[in-house]
Amino acid sequence: MSLELAQTALAPPSDRSQALADWLRDYARRRIHSRLIDERRCIPPHVALDFGNRGLLGMQVPAGQGGLLGLDHQEYFWLLRQLGAIDFTLAAFVGLNNCLGVRPILRFGNPAMRERYLPDLARGRILGAFAVTEAGAGSNPAGIAAVAQRQANGFVLSGEKWWSGSAQWAGVINVVARHHDTAGRHCGFVALCVDGDQPGLRQGEEALTLGLRGMVQNQLHFDAAAIGADRVLGSPYAGMSVAADTMGYGRLAIAAVAGGAVWRLLQLMVRYTSRRRVGETLLYGNDHVQAVILEHWRAASALDLLVRRIGIALDGGASLPPEVHAAAKLVATELLWAAADAAMQLLGGRAYCENNPVAQIWRDARITRVFEGPSETIASYLGQQLLREPSALLQHLQTRHAGQAAQLQAIADCCRAQDAEPSARGLVALGEAAAWTVLAAYVEPAPELAGWLGAKRAAAAERLLAPAEAALPDADLLAALIDRQAGLVRQMRAGEQRELDPYLFD
Ligand SMILES: Cc1cc2nc3c(=O)[nH]c(=O)nc-3n(C[C@H](O)[C@H](O)[C@H](O)COP(=O)(O)OP(=O)(O)OC[C@H]3O[C@@H](n4cnc5c(N)ncnc54)[C@H](O)[C@@H]3O)c2cc1C
Repeated sequence: MSLELAQTALAPPSDRSQALADWLRDYARRRIHSRLIDERRCIPPHVALDFGNRGLLGMQVPAGQGGLLGLDHQEYFWLLRQLGAIDFTLAAFVGLNNCLGVRPILRFGNPAMRERYLPDLARGRILGAFAVTEAGAGSNPAGIAAVAQRQANGFVLSGEKWWSGSAQWAGVINVVARHHDTAGRHCGFVALCVDGDQPGLRQGEEALTLGLRGMVQNQLHFDAAAIGADRVLGSPYAGMSVAADTMGYGRLAIAAVAGGAVWRLLQLMVRYTSRRRVGETLLYGNDHVQAVILEHWRAASALDLLVRRIGIALDGGASLPPEVHAAAKLVATELLWAAADAAMQLLGGRAYCENNPVAQIWRDARITRVFEGPSETIASYLGQQLLREPSALLQHLQTRHAGQAAQLQAIADCCRAQDAEPSARGLVALGEAAAWTVLAAYVEPAPELAGWLGAKRAAAAERLLAPAEAALPDADLLAALIDRQAGLVRQMRAGEQRELDPYLFD
């Protein structure tokens, strides 16, 4: 068993990427204190500066555009995987700068923008951020209300953004807004590269998040900010394409980070269970414990193969359908969350204590099922895409693994036969089956993972075929019934005075 599993271990994609990974391991031992980062809700300046000096904050920026590394996709994912094993918050911080800060400018920026921002971003002299989400536009970016109103020389940007990672610290922010023409008509979306010192940009409140505490996520307010026409990323009508490309690549980065984090969780699970005796025996000798560890070993191995093979395809110049990026994010974050919760259980009370690292990883990992598209939204999207004729995802899978594609086609046909208009629940289950099939198609041939992967897909297909649940009553009625059970638990006692006295306002 262990020999078979060892075969899935990946070699580094290159000597230089392994040298950087080795540097990160050594640096982490000497200069990183994850719990302090978390408790102080701040990444220390030396970490950002040292990462910047190594080129880690813009790993794919070519030397000709001010980068220090110019890594390919496989190398980039390798380093994110290593960072995911070291510190999830730092991995998110680095991944955000690279994917959401640098990439839109590198791919869609004009020469002046690239010259102005890329060298500083790549070397960590400034940070980048990305702002799509709003109060009414999260899992549904089309609900964006911020408006970029076309003027003779550019745009006037008004509106609010929420939870923009690193925004408070950023020197440049890529913002997506509705594009209104000079007559005020909606004509698509525009992505704008906004300078951190842009007049009319007000940094708003930071969110007190459950995890990823070391980096900021904050609101942004645009008070009729005048943005030049030379600030448009790509076409002024194609803001959603810029956002889709950015978030699609971000989803692959999340999968890479998640893979590294699962290895770290496994390390903690094996360390603990091989040292902790319960009665006469080590926990590690318990076959239930071994089954748990094996489950997550398989997950880590499968994620390694998935991310590597996607990297190989991208480095070979392939253009993968966005469904592959979405599926990778979905399975990776579900597997990460399962591993984090398993570690929380396996390490018992110690895992629940903040002096040990599992608690922090567990809190950090939880957001991955929500940001860059919640799992259900992604699954629903995959389900919809699968039912299209022709389906780009099925066509792609046919080129990768005809057998897997045929099985997924059969599940989609079954869904169609069951329901001409699948329910939201049906789409989610269908999309989950699609995501596990993508994983299987990218991982095979790996005989030691085949049964495990088949079971994941079968579970999703079973949910698809399960009879519909009874509909809930009217929401007000249900809320009243629940209030009766729970009582009205809103606490009204006055808290602490924290606001500045109005007499002392500027
Ligand atoms: C720590 C953190 C960092 C973030 N960083 C950024 C950033 O840098 N830039 C940025 O723009 N945004 C960022 N976000 C925002 C993030 O991407 C959104 O929170 C996310 O897209 C979900 O949107 P929402 O919170 O409005 O959830 P909602 O849209 O309200 O959705 C709530 C839930 O509804 C369910 N749901 C939604 N659609 C469906 C469906 N079709 N079928 C079934 N169930 C469904 C899902 O369970 C979902 O989680 C960040 C958020 C956090 C918390």
